[in-house]
This record gives sequence, structure tokens and C-alpha cells, in this order.
Amino acid sequence: MLTKVEPLRKVLELEREKGYADTAVIGGLDRFLRRWAAQALESITSPRLLSQFKKLRLDDAKYASLNQPQRQKWIADVFAFLESIKTEKAEGKPPTKKSVTPPRKRPATAQKVTGQSLDFPITSLKGVSTAMAAKFKRLGVQTIRDLLYFFPHRHLDYSQTRSISELTGGEEQTITANVWQAQVTMLGGRRGTEAIVGDETGNVRAVWFNNPYIARSLPTNARVVLSGRVTVFGGRHVFESPEWELLEDKELVHTGRLVPLYSLTRGLKPRQVRKLMKQVVDQFAGQVADFLPPNLKKRCHLLELPRAIFQAHYPEDETAKDNARTRLAFDELFLLQLGVLGRKHEWQESQPAAPVSVEKPLLDSFIKSLPFELTAAQQKVLKELLSDLEKPRAMSRLLQGEVGSGKTVVATAALLAAASSGYQGAFMAPTEILAEQHFTSVGEVLSRTAAKVTEEDNLRRFTGLLAKPLTLALLIGDLKQASKQAIQQRIRDGEIDIVIGTHALIQKEVDFSKLGLAVVDEQHRFGVAQRSALRQKGFNPHVLVMTATPIPRTLALTLYGDLDLSVIDELPPGRQSIKTRWLKSAQRTSAYAFLRRQVAEGHQAFIICPLVEESEAIQAKAAVAEYERLSKEVFPDLKLGLIHGRLSAAEKDGVMHKFRAGELDILVSTPVVEVGIDVPNATVMLVESADRFGLSQLHQFRGRVGRGSQQSYCMLLAENPSDIGQARLDLIEKIQDGFELAEEDLKLRGPGEFFGTRQSGLPDLRMARLSDVKLLELARTEAIRLFEQDPALSSPAHKLLSAEVARVWQAGGEWS
Ligand code: ADP
Ligand code: MG
Repeated sequence: MLTKVEPLRKVLELEREKGYADTAVIGGLDRFLRRWAAQALESITSPRLLSQFKKLRLDDAKYASLNQPQRQKWIADVFAFLESIKTEKAEGKPPTKKSVTPPRKRPATAQKVTGQSLDFPITSLKGVSTAMAAKFKRLGVQTIRDLLYFFPHRHLDYSQTRSISELTGGEEQTITANVWQAQVTMLGGRRGTEAIVGDETGNVRAVWFNNPYIARSLPTNARVVLSGRVTVFGGRHVFESPEWELLEDKELVHTGRLVPLYSLTRGLKPRQVRKLMKQVVDQFAGQVADFLPPNLKKRCHLLELPRAIFQAHYPEDETAKDNARTRLAFDELFLLQLGVLGRKHEWQESQPAAPVSVEKPLLDSFIKSLPFELTAAQQKVLKELLSDLEKPRAMSRLLQGEVGSGKTVVATAALLAAASSGYQGAFMAPTEILAEQHFTSVGEVLSRTAAKVTEEDNLRRFTGLLAKPLTLALLIGDLKQASKQAIQQRIRDGEIDIVIGTHALIQKEVDFSKLGLAVVDEQHRFGVAQRSALRQKGFNPHVLVMTATPIPRTLALTLYGDLDLSVIDELPPGRQSIKTRWLKSAQRTSAYAFLRRQVAEGHQAFIICPLVEESEAIQAKAAVAEYERLSKEVFPDLKLGLIHGRLSAAEKDGVMHKFRAGELDILVSTPVVEVGIDVPNATVMLVESADRFGLSQLHQFRGRVGRGSQQSYCMLLAENPSDIGQARLDLIEKIQDGFELAEEDLKLRGPGEFFGTRQSGLPDLRMARLSDVKLLELARTEAIRLFEQDPALSSPAHKLLSAEVARVWQAGGEWS
């Protein structure tokens, strides 16, 4: 009896705490009470208690139909009743030894876990040792709240119970049976457990390999539930290593239902984690405050948060599970949106930006000097940029454009506009090679309209553009300390107008005197943190972020909703589609022969080394080996160059320079060339172990060729691609358009993987799938609606929500 009193007391306490709204247990109090009463009734021995019990009608509770004061009174009565059981116990017989929970300890734990307890470390839970907590920490779980949000990656459907006579071989099935006998036995040369269990329709054998301890847990005559695969052995059915659990008065956790599977780490056992999770969701899911405004929840048909959390772990059925996922996924997207909108608001409204007065004649002459006409799309985007720059409100713009669509020149025009207005401009690239390339090409483009007066290693000075000479500088981590410091000093003095660099630009030693515009190239390599850091370099500079990763619009708006969107949706004229083929290793020789023919015709080629993930050093080593092999064995008569991340800036520069100048036929490279490199004479791209790259990455590789007017080729070598690898290769063969590829990529990928939200510095998406465009749009619409009413989330009705936004965005703030 005693074991049954505590759960009831706990539930009623929770119900009282939650204002008698019948929200303490999933499915309503009445159902819970009836189940509880049915079991409790059997163990009531005193006639006095029995009559009280009947009076309270616990076995036929009608709590749901009571009004609030009635509920309050009724619960108080039940508490009194429970008290009297306790006294009866104390006076009467000692509790049976089966009572596993010492009566005194329970209230103490219950007390410990109210209030802010969700943020307590999990070691405050009964049965969680420091060692276990350390293992959970590896899974990113530290607090009780983390545990609640530690969702299973999937569920096993053990919900259909059969009788033993209905079992069929080869399927996952569940039975409820009596244990006739369980013993330790030798199975396949090792100790295991064998049990014979039976129901009214027959008997069946169950075996567990390497698990002799289970025998001890299956006493004869115990009721047991087995879930798992049934095989046929010697003409008879056998359960092989099924999940098992004794049918006690507790709810089933491992069998007979939708059973959660959690991603585990060494030393955490599935049964242990499931048991703990059940305990935690039972006890705490009800305490999670639902932060969504009720009217929103209603409008969007979303579950209550406690129920959603509960059902995400231990769902009643598939529908409940789906609804739970929808609610939790909505939360993620909605909070993401709110944070993003809030940040945009803050950036734009808090500080005025530097309004750039664009000098039209200067820009016109710059554009006229280019060796080509801007495409209509480039012109349109440039106009959008310039009109943003003229405003006293900081530009926050994402420029998307297919590889080779000509983003750099547009950015250069914007930087020039800022410089002409007396502001500094920063142009940040993800790799040193790219920074150098931009430095070279911006320099070249500027020298078409201006006279270059000085040229130092990392500095160019042009006259004839502005009233004073325009100074362009390169700042990368690889520079000698002295020249780095010299450049930093000149940036501080305001002597440098445009500085091009890598992450080195946002280090704390760099102090701009008057930063007006920051351009970030190839955005997906940069986290939000870097963007913010750059922003703090000036007094709220305009920010332009450029990416060639084609992100579907809804997605762009969701992940980068803090940015306005511009798209260059047109390639310069004369570009041809790139012939793309994936080849097996057996075809490598003919691939090399093809490459050789292209070189003979005066073209150049890239060879991308296999992806080595261990470290940059190991990757570099592998690249060196591949380079040697190719130079000695395959192309001894051709001129090859090698580029990898371990080379110094000068070395990289040297190789790139030679390749660009046509002095090298083949550039062997680690995957670093993925972004941005521009050598129009290169017509062949050969990628090793192509199946290991994502679609957008392959598309980037391919974009390194086909930049001139010559027919170009992309050869993708892959020996034994997985199904998904093969699907990707098939897609890239067929599809040229980056946006279309991105849409397909989205369909192929799982939650949050599209381009690692973690990398981008945004909160984690665990339940949301970025392919779920409908939910994305719903979350965005709702966020905008709410934001329009209450941008600061300061109304009392949004207090919980505002705290949740802060919490989630803070957690997402561990940028790497
Ligand atoms: P991305 O958008 O991938 O960064 P780039 O800015 O590197 O592309 O431009 C790719 C190439 O196209 C460069 O060689 C650039 O000079 C050239 N280019 C840019 N705009 C045009 C244009 N309107 N017409 C012809 N070539 C152009
Ligand atoms: Mg580029």
C-alpha cells in the first residue's frame, strides 16, 4: 500500500501547485485515480479505511467535472485520507518488506525538486552518481532541464501485444507471460540466460547471450513482458535477447509500448537511461512552464509543453508522438526567429550607423573601367546596397549568388563607396588564400581607374580616385609580426581605407578608426559571433554577408532572418554548363588521360585530394603524398603545384600566383580551394573520394571551373558510395543549378544538418527539420506577428517567453 500512496500524494501536490487545473498528469486526474484506486483497493485491510476510501469515490473519480473550489476541497479530503493511512500504518502492522521506497526519504526529495529545480544538476536526482553525470555531460546534458530535452532519436514500436500462439518468426513482437523457469546456461560458449515463459495459449523460450544476470531478475511465476525479435530454431519460436521487464504496478518502460531509443555514450546502458528518463519526465515534465502565449498555441493547434515533452519520450501512440514533435520543433524555430528578429531590431535601432554619401561619378567611372558589363542582377543588387548605405540605419544584408556570379566586384564597389565617404571598409574572407586572392583582384580592378603609386607587400596605394590616396591593405594571421603590427597601426590611424583579411581582422588588436562597412565573404564559414565581433569594431558599421551556398529563401529568412536578402540570380553571359560525371576508381586512368588531353589543349586542372578529417597536419601530409605520387608516377612530364593549409602565406601565394599565371598545369589541393578561387583558364576539376563531400561542397568544387568561355568538366571519383552518397552523386551529375541542388540536398539531409546550425552560432535544432517548410513558415509568421505587438517582449504575458528566448540564445552562444 505504502508504495502506492506516494505517487498519488505527489500527483495531488503537483495538481494543487498548478492551481487545480487538472494538468498534473497526462490524460487527466480521473484516469490516473481510477487506475490507482483499482490497485490500491486490493491492499486495504482496515474496514475504517475502506469506508473512507469508498466515501471519497476514488475508484470512480469525477474530478474533471468539479469546479475549482470543489476540487480544492476534494483534494484536501484525499490528503487527510492519506494522512490517516499513514497513522494506521504506524499503529498497525509494519510495512511489508516489498516497499522499495523508504517512506521518509520521498517527501524530502519532493521538496528538493520544486521551484527552480529544473536547472539543478542531474546529480540532485536520486540514483544519478557523479560518474553517471560525467557520462551525460558528454552528451551535453547537465541539468534536469537538459535531461527533459534529451530526446530519443527514435522509438521502437513494441505496442502491439500478442499471445504466444500468435507469434510468427522473423518479426518484432511483444508478449505478456508468466516465468516458468529462468536459469544461467551456456550459450555459444559463454554464460547467458535461458527462460521458459508461458501464457494461456502456450510456452516459448527466450535467450539472452552474455547476460547471465538476467536469470536472477526473473523469479518463477513473475509476470514478464518480452519485446523483441522472434526467430525460429529447430522448428520452435525463440525470443532472442528481447527487451524484458517485470509487470509490476509501474508503467512499462522497456516493453509493450513505443519504447524510446536514446543516443548513448560509453558506459550508459539503454535500460538505465530509459528508467531514469521515465522517472524524470514523470516527475518534472509537469513543472516545465509553458512559455507560448495561449492564443498562439490555440491558433496553431499546438500541444501543451509538458505534455509534448512527456509524449516525445514516452508517447501513447504515433499520433501523440508526431504532435509532440511538432510542438517542440515549432518552439525551436519560433525561438530562433524571435532571437534573430530581436537582434536585428537591436542592431538597427540602438545605434545610428554611418550614412555613406555615395559619390556617383566615382562609382560610374569604376564600373566603366571594368573589363565587362555588370549583369542586370549585379546592377540591381548594387543599387540595393548603395541605397542601404545611404541610410543612417545599419545595413544587415545577405548577398546570395551562385558561384561565379560576380559577387566580389559588387562588394568592391560598395567598399569604394564607403571609402569615398571617408569611412574604412573591411573585407573578410574565410581562408588566407581567398583573402590574398581578393587583395590581388580588388587591387587589379582599382588600378584600372586609378594610378597605383606605391606597392608594398601588403599594401597598395592608388591616386586619382579620392581626394587623398586610397590605401588598400592585406591583414592575415600569417604575416610577420612586424608587418602585422604596422598594418594594425595604420588601421588605427585611419590611414588604411580598405583592409582585406581573414579572422585576423576581428582580433582585439585591430582597432578601426572609422569602420563604415564590413563585408564578409562566404558566410557559412563564419559564425554569428564573428559577425558581431566585426560589428563591434566600429560604431555599428553596415554589414554585407556574401554566400554562394544557395539557401532556399524560407530557410535563409529563418536562419539569417536578421539579414535582408539580395540575390544575384544570373551568371555573366557566355558561361557554359559544366559536364559532370562520377567515376569508379577503375576509371581513374582514363580520367587522368582526359585531364592530360585538356592540358595539351592549353588548359589547367584542379585535383582535390581525398578528405582527411583527423587534423590539418595529417591532411597536409596526405596531400603531400598524393602530390608526390601524381608528379612522379602519373604526370612526370607536367608541371604540378601543391597547396594545403600548412603552407605559409608566402608559399601559398607563390603557388597560386604561378597557377593563375599559367605556369602550372595542375593544382593539387586539399579541400581548401572549395571556396572562391578564380582561375578562368582551368577547365577540369577532379575530386577524389567525392562521395564523402556534401552536395553544396561538391557544387562549390565544380564552380572552380567553367569560369571562362571554354567547355569545362568535373570528374567525381567514388569507389563504393553509400546509398546517400550515390544519391548525391546522381543529383550533381544531373543538376547544374545551385538552388535546385540545395532543395534536393535539404530533402536528403536530416534535422539541423543542412549546414550545421551549431557552426553558425545559432541555437541547436533538435526536433526541427529544415525541410519542414510549412512549420518554418508558421513559426516565422507567428514570430513576426508577436514581434510587431511587443518587440521587446516586455508585456507581462510574454515574461516567460522572453526568459526562454534569452535562455536558448545564451545556450546557443557557445560558438566555436
Ligand atoms: P563569386 O560570386 O563566385 O565570388 P567572382 O566574384 O569571383 O564570383 O566572379 C567570378 C568571375 O567572373 C571573375 O573572374 C569576375 O571577374 C568575373 N565577372 C564578374 N562579373 C562579371 C560580369 N558581369 N561579366 C563577366 N565576368 C564577370
Ligand atoms: Mg567569391
